[in-house]
Amino acid sequence: MSNRVVEGRMVTPERLAELIEGERPMEATAIEDADRECPDCGGNVISVGYMPSVTAFVTGYKCQDCSWSDRDAQ
Ligand SMILES: [Zn+2]
Repeated sequence: MSNRVVEGRMVTPERLAELIEGERPMEATAIEDADRECPDCGGNVISVGYMPSVTAFVTGYKCQDCSWSDRDAQ
């Protein structure tokens, strides 16, 4: 299972992408450790790849401890 705890809640890759993007993605890859620290609280950052539409792929980043998130569109 690649579910992870984010802000005290267990989330699936799809739910994590939804938290970052604001809407549910068409598809999401497994959650991975992003190997970086949250700039707001120093917490652990995890990443997930997802497709907000058929033609787009985004790597999203989310802090596990606070509401900070970021995204890289390709
Ligand atoms: Zn944080």
